[in-house]
Amino acid sequence: MNRSAESPGPVVGVLALQGAFSTHLDRLASLNVKARPVTQPEHLKGVDALILPGGESTTMSMLLDTSGLREPLGDLFVDGMPVFGTCAGMILCASNVLDGRPDQRGFDLVDVTVRRNGYGRQLDSFETDLNVAGLASPFHAVFIRAPRVEHVGAAVDILATHDGVPVLVRDGTCTVAAFHPELTHDTRLHELFVAQLNGN
Ligand code: GLN
Repeated sequence: MNRSAESPGPVVGVLALQGAFSTHLDRLASLNVKARPVTQPEHLKGVDALILPGGESTTMSMLLDTSGLREPLGDLFVDGMPVFGTCAGMILCASNVLDGRPDQRGFDLVDVTVRRNGYGRQLDSFETDLNVAGLASPFHAVFIRAPRVEHVGAAVDILATHDGVPVLVRDGTCTVAAFHPELTHDTRLHELFVAQLNGN
């Protein structure tokens, strides 16, 4: 941890209100990227990019309000801060959420419609190898009660699909994955995200 804190380059915040944030921090540390958990507005000072992890989007939505993070985060996102949303994080970034709780709210950063838990009971969780644009070999993806993309806006780049359904997409500075890239030791998607911050 200390070693990564001394490294040059951008600082990546990981929203740490709930869910799978610690494995994202581990992946970033293994890349020697400066990373910090974000649980309150003060933690956003000096942060260049943000990861919204998997977990439970309804709970995260509630905690975004009680923590006071919703407004400052929304302002940073409007200003163009790069975001990587994974699973529940994808739901929080989507412009339209089906089967959400009526009071859950997100940031409307990616022009997609997603259905919460859209893979249904039989496929609650599954793993598969994905061909990802920009990666030379397949990426092993772990899906856990994943959101299913039902519509993608014309300006959205589709970076990977599974059975014809987009599972990794990018809209401007926001990238979202329906799966959990932090749950394997393959750090290539985190590397791509950080490369974007370094202007590569
Ligand atoms: N089903 C969860 C939700 O609705 C997302 C699952 C996950 O992040 N693994 O927020």
